Amino acid sequence: MGEDDALGDSTARKLKYWGWGYEGEGLDVAETRSLLTTFAEGFGIVPSDDGRMPALEEIELPAPRLAWPAALAGICTNDRYERVLHAFGQSQPDSIRICMGDFTRAPDVVAYPENEADIAALYDWCGDAGAALVPYGGGSSVVGGVTGDVGNGFNGTVTVDLGRMNKVLEIDDVSRAARIQGGARGPELEAQLKPSGLTLRHFPQSFEHSTLGGWIATRSGGHFATLYTHIDDLVESVTMVAPSGKMTSRRLPGSGAGPSPDRFMIGSEGAMGIITESWVRLQGRPVFKATAGFRFADFLSAAAAVRAVSQAGLFPANVRIVDGVELQVNGAGDGSFSLMVVSFESSDHPVDAWMARAEQCCLDHGGVIDVDWRDNPRANLEGAVGAWRTAFIRMPYCREELTPRGIISDTFESAITWNRFEEFYHAIREATGAAIRKATGREGAVSCRFSHAYPDGPAPYFAFHGQGRKDGLLEQWKEIKNAASDAVISEGGTITHHHAVGRDHQKWYERQRPEIFGKVLAEAKGCLDPKGILNPGVIVSS
Ligand SMILES: Cc1cc2nc3c(=O)[nH]c(=O)nc-3n(C[C@H](O)[C@H](O)[C@H](O)COP(=O)(O)OP(=O)(O)OC[C@H]3O[C@@H](n4cnc5c(N)ncnc54)[C@H](O)[C@@H]3O)c2cc1C
Repeated sequence: MGEDDALGDSTARKLKYWGWGYEGEGLDVAETRSLLTTFAEGFGIVPSDDGRMPALEEIELPAPRLAWPAALAGICTNDRYERVLHAFGQSQPDSIRICMGDFTRAPDVVAYPENEADIAALYDWCGDAGAALVPYGGGSSVVGGVTGDVGNGFNGTVTVDLGRMNKVLEIDDVSRAARIQGGARGPELEAQLKPSGLTLRHFPQSFEHSTLGGWIATRSGGHFATLYTHIDDLVESVTMVAPSGKMTSRRLPGSGAGPSPDRFMIGSEGAMGIITESWVRLQGRPVFKATAGFRFADFLSAAAAVRAVSQAGLFPANVRIVDGVELQVNGAGDGSFSLMVVSFESSDHPVDAWMARAEQCCLDHGGVIDVDWRDNPRANLEGAVGAWRTAFIRMPYCREELTPRGIISDTFESAITWNRFEEFYHAIREATGAAIRKATGREGAVSCRFSHAYPDGPAPYFAFHGQGRKDGLLEQWKEIKNAASDAVISEGGTITHHHAVGRDHQKWYERQRPEIFGKVLAEAKGCLDPKGILNPGVIVSS
């Protein structure tokens, strides 16, 4: 196979290399205008002249440095579109670099293994060729997990896309579990589970374009706000293929046998091996559902209500609070109130009693009903709840409109115990706001919502927006991100609640974890990946 050879079906829907989703999807003209008007009128963040993302043929791509062996010809390509598509994930710096046309670190080769033997053969080839290997699921990483920034010690980079390993292989409906390949995207695996009447019920916002292997590798958090929301809790066993060999943990509902191999593989972010399949726990599809919305005069009262609901042992499917700034950015509020959305679901029993108790917790803390749940199956489409939900679904498409217009818009999430939450909240908002002023020379906007809540603390999710300079966007973003991340770590939070470590958070992850634990991970990597070719710079510093 020669340079620019393509694999697969050229008529299939193409994913965008410059943003979220498929070509042809995105904000329409009216939605874009409304977004830009909100930024300009609500926050004084004025877009620069219309810029645009570069066309495929305009992108300067370095010549590929690697040639695959004949035995791998059926699964390797250096087609221009494939290399460009796999060059970046979905982070703010990724978007800026795409806009700048900086594809100097694009992979030399993209491989689509079909089985574990292909993966082993790729390891052998990369090891011999001195090439780095970047595992790739859906490429939805927002932390630089799939970029080719592997350092200078390699003769090339091979991105390994698991998209052809996308099957549900087995369903055990007695134990309610399924064996699923790592490359299955959310809709693919749910469609295959559907005839069984069961569901994994793991719905990160990136569900459509992310994979089971990616979720496990990054410890993703689903849409559900309490209880079984992290993929960690849904994993029964994992199979990971590393350059040194394969490990499969035993299928067990629970175990007290020493440190857990599952917990070692979960969160390994492609640095220890490739997750080829996993047994995951399934649930019945929900039949009983209720949603309500409550307005609060301020975010901290809403937070107190979340704490009450979380500590009452109710475990709602959703208990999200959104502050006035985020509601305003999304056209779901005027900035004068915060919103709580609370939902319960069950495949087994009515949820009214739980909802009534959660409502009381909200009213006790000054909540006012925005959308009533009683006899209201459309509650999630009404009021501020419905407006925010609609905006939430469209959110992933905003960045590709904002970056070319010089607007910095990014998010980060953490978690903190309730006893430290208020101080943490104020410190992070102040540090981030000050950093925006310093980096851009003007006011920006900082918002907060809770994405998840636990009895001992919430997971606050911050967003920041600022008017950047198109020729300095990356440096400005870095300055703000560094200040916000420094504040998160010094105030006692985690550098990530569910977006993972990747390359962007590595520095702060090293501050967060015990130093000797870093050494243990480095030793483990040395055992599994002796040539250090797997996702260099992620989890273990290179
Ligand atoms: C719009 C949007 C919304 C998002 N919402 C959420 C959310 O609600 N919750 C959440 O948790 N995250 C969210 N994310 C972040 C991202 O979707 C998650 O990190 C997701 O789990 C990544 O899955 P992926 O298949 O896309 O992995 P990729 O982005 O392809 O890879 C992520 C990391 O995992 C490694 N990896 C991927 N597959 C494998 C494998 N099979 N074996 C070993 N390593 C592998 C990669 O090397 C990389 O380090 C969102 C991202 C976007 C763009």
